Amino acid sequence: MSWIPDPAFGPEHPFGPQTLPYGVFSTGPDGFRSVGVRVGDHVLDLSALPGLPGQELLVGGGLDALLAAGRDTWARLRDALTDLVNADDEPQGAQLHPLASVRMHLPFTVGDYVDFYSSRNHAENVGRIFRPDAEPLLPNWTHLPVGYHGRAGTIVVSGTEIVRPAGQSKPRDADEPVYGPSRRLDVEAEVGFVCGGPVRSRVPVDEVESHVFGVALVNDWSARDIQAWEYQPLGPFLGKSFATSLAAWITPLAALADARVELAKPPHPLASYLDGGQPWGLDLSLQVSWNGTVVTRPPFATMSWSCAQQLAHLTVNGATVRPGDLFASGTVSGPSRDQVGCFLELTWGGREPVTLDGGVSRTFLEDGDEVVITATAPGPSGSVVGFGEVAGRVVPAPAG
Ligand code: CA
Repeated sequence: MSWIPDPAFGPEHPFGPQTLPYGVFSTGPDGFRSVGVRVGDHVLDLSALPGLPGQELLVGGGLDALLAAGRDTWARLRDALTDLVNADDEPQGAQLHPLASVRMHLPFTVGDYVDFYSSRNHAENVGRIFRPDAEPLLPNWTHLPVGYHGRAGTIVVSGTEIVRPAGQSKPRDADEPVYGPSRRLDVEAEVGFVCGGPVRSRVPVDEVESHVFGVALVNDWSARDIQAWEYQPLGPFLGKSFATSLAAWITPLAALADARVELAKPPHPLASYLDGGQPWGLDLSLQVSWNGTVVTRPPFATMSWSCAQQLAHLTVNGATVRPGDLFASGTVSGPSRDQVGCFLELTWGGREPVTLDGGVSRTFLEDGDEVVITATAPGPSGSVVGFGEVAGRVVPAPAG
């Protein structure tokens, strides 16, 4: 029996000893931040526990130093924490806080942020909606993981309110663009990869584990009307940069060894830097709730490009990956309508509204709407690995 007080704490709990995600929390009005690990429905304060490997990395109120420390330190700390939470007796200095009593913070300083586009179903659906008269998949898509550099400064922790963005758009039937609050505000359910370890360029696909610390869910909020008007020829800009929500809990990559799956074979040979090793995907099952109604269940195992290939690609030209960099998978969409990762696809460009519980009809997000993305993955010995949710509520655009 573990000393953790949650009655169900054990491998059958999605936040049991097989998971142990890291986050940063505060408890009091002073806002003093501590690094913690989630155990069941509690947070274990790591800054208060003596004798952990890498203890000196855990006291700054953020994960930056731990991310920089590298894979060996991550493994030693995780091993020690696994022993500690499985022990019968409460260790000296242990401070547990009920999850409901803490405030979570963005857990690390986000460096560069890259957003990929690695779901073939999503890329084809968006192609059909945005460019109905053209081939849905552009010719580069099967040769490289398409991506763009996003805006790190507006990455916010789960629970942060999302202010409806304003910008230019050009309605289909209008001759001139208009300026105002977005009327087609959308979500993108994605999986984010938090980078750590040494600064490095040209990361081989089989060395991804030295540079990816863990996984966190992402909601890449998107203003479709702004996006559609601005995105050619240089790609997404203001339609994406106003906010990106990141889950408060980062699940170590080491917790996902049993969730690895083979990716679908590419339709032709790949460039050598994308082809080495065994590029594995991850079998995360996502779930998107809109005002409490589950509207879609995107399967991450259907993605075409792996995190290893994405990291290899984003560094192949000599660009470096640094601790605190974040890259996201791109919207996760499975083959069927109830598996798509955004409302643009769910409502087919707003033409086919969905009905939420209570009979409310929706195409895109209204002010006051809340979206919560959760996920699970297979863990060792039939257990389940849970992921911290990423939640956000839309508030009105400022006047003017
Ligand atoms: Ca995205």
